[in-house]
Amino acid sequence: MASLHQVSGIILSRRDHKEVDRWYSAFTRERGKIEFLARGAHKPLAKLSPHLESFCEADFLLVDGRHYHTIAGVERRRAFPNIRTDLSRLLLAKNGLHLVDIGTKQFEADPFLYKSTLYWLKFLDQAPSISPERSGFLLASFALKLLAITGYRPELNRCLACKAPVESKSFRWHALKGGVVCQKCVQADEEQWFASRPMDDDTLKLIRFALAEAYPDQLKPHLPGQTLAAFHEAVESLIVSHFPTIPANSLRGACLVC
Ligand SMILES: [Zn+2]
Repeated sequence: MASLHQVSGIILSRRDHKEVDRWYSAFTRERGKIEFLARGAHKPLAKLSPHLESFCEADFLLVDGRHYHTIAGVERRRAFPNIRTDLSRLLLAKNGLHLVDIGTKQFEADPFLYKSTLYWLKFLDQAPSISPERSGFLLASFALKLLAITGYRPELNRCLACKAPVESKSFRWHALKGGVVCQKCVQADEEQWFASRPMDDDTLKLIRFALAEAYPDQLKPHLPGQTLAAFHEAVESLIVSHFPTIPANSLRGACLVC
């Protein structure tokens, strides 16, 4: 017997299925990431889709089938209507939700990630138009916070090996091990830290800033080109090392697509 249940969530992505049907991926408060099918033939998809296609938090009424969920109803809880009125905000919202989609596994409820994703949409809903360069930085910042919430908070202050605070100009970066390592430890065990890369002080500072500060405060500071490039390289190295699925595009690239 199929049973009904209701969850609150945010649509992350969708894909068409057999012309009339559509699969959706949603991040829900109760069950983490789930997928469900909207059947065009049974209940007109047109009725449901305005609430499934826009940036909003909604209540979904799902039918639990033996192999998958089907959606029977949707009610909007909270909309973020301003996001769509500006291309930079629209791209950031889409790309942020895409990162949640590929950065999480199914059925792992995470109330903090749920809240933080809603906060991202709320921020974008109230944000001004954002330059592509700043967009790339904000998206990387969202990715860093996502990594931290899902258990991969990078170590940015103490050496991963000896735990001593890292000092200016005498540390390296190891994405797979997740953070900074001091020169002494690298020299003591070169084989172990073979994959570590050089990083300068300004890049480390920018990573700390992006991880710690709220998005509205990240709209202001100047982003020097060279530091920004190294920053993106470091964040992308973390994503490649720790996400369950690796994004097809770089975060910088994702914000330039029109
Ligand atoms: Zn050390």
